Amino acid sequence: MNATEARPDVYSRPAARFAGDGSMEVRASAAAGCRRALWYAATDREITNPPDAAAVTVLETGTALEPVVLRAMARAGWEITPGDPVEPEEVSVEAASNVRVVGHPDATGRMPLLPDAASEEASRIGMLLFGSMPQIRCLGGETVVEVKTRGPEAFRRWKTLGAERSHPEAVAQAAFYTYGKFGEARDAVIATMDTGARRWDIEVVPADRVERALEDACERMAQLGRHLALNGPDPDALPDRDFPSGDWRCRRCPWLTACLPRESPEDPDDATDADETPVTDADARDAIASYDDARTAMKDPGAARRTALDTLKAWMRGRGDKKATLDGRKVSLVETRRFSVDHRRLNEMLDPEDRRRIVTESVSEHVRVT
Ligand code: SF4
Repeated sequence: MNATEARPDVYSRPAARFAGDGSMEVRASAAAGCRRALWYAATDREITNPPDAAAVTVLETGTALEPVVLRAMARAGWEITPGDPVEPEEVSVEAASNVRVVGHPDATGRMPLLPDAASEEASRIGMLLFGSMPQIRCLGGETVVEVKTRGPEAFRRWKTLGAERSHPEAVAQAAFYTYGKFGEARDAVIATMDTGARRWDIEVVPADRVERALEDACERMAQLGRHLALNGPDPDALPDRDFPSGDWRCRRCPWLTACLPRESPEDPDDATDADETPVTDADARDAIASYDDARTAMKDPGAARRTALDTLKAWMRGRGDKKATLDGRKVSLVETRRFSVDHRRLNEMLDPEDRRRIVTESVSEHVRVT
């Protein structure tokens, strides 16, 4: 390897390719992706939308940080066996009679044997409430560790929703590695680093859900296998699209223009929305100036109010009173109680379907000016 090569060739193999016997080999990290994209990859379709330099940098940053996450886990007491960076162990699962999923696990590991006091308490409560001890379940057992890096927003989403909802492809990947490595369902660990704050955390996907993720992924691969058996490696016999137009996975797809020509960034039809009143650059500049004026006007009164309230809070605490009257004005020390949910434990304890009923998601839009 020269100095600029991050990884050996095995890591840069195509998402899918045909083997000498006519079967298809799919990369584990792509096995939960779009089957049409896999077909483009296997039939050597020319890439129409290569990742730009910024996307490549993000990708390489994620790759470079994987050993950092593993070392951090080791420092936290995990017994980590990282994959060999030069000759990684290949694992392989026969997902269908003519489709094989292959890959290289980032690492395997064993959880720290002595959980901290908070974990012990939570496990004890979990035992009482649910009859199981999620933190203890795979203690001592070797598990696959799948390392991911996410930006702050994606990290928060993963922590709240769990990997099965936020990044199901990572769970399918870990499931293939688990079966390929151990030949059975086991708990799998998704370790994720927030690239903004450089903090990391783990999620344990229990063995029964690893099994389900593998079954779902194998069903998709079996459909691809039937398509291959019916059409042979015909580049023009495309499988149906797996994602709707506009899906984020399509926007990042290297064959976006080939698959959905109207979605192409060059498509002039996409440049403006005919139903919206056009906003000129001058309008936007005026909006920023108004925003700055409003912000300046708000800033000082807000700060002065906070300082006054802090003074009054210290005064009330000093008196040990919750209510007081000063110069005819009533002053109260109001307590606000907040309840928080430990999403990590919730994600481990409950099926994604149950969680979907409890943790709901909504999207709103706002504009930020910096
Ligand atoms: S553009 Fe979307 S539907 Fe088409 S191949 Fe890519 S991921 Fe699949």
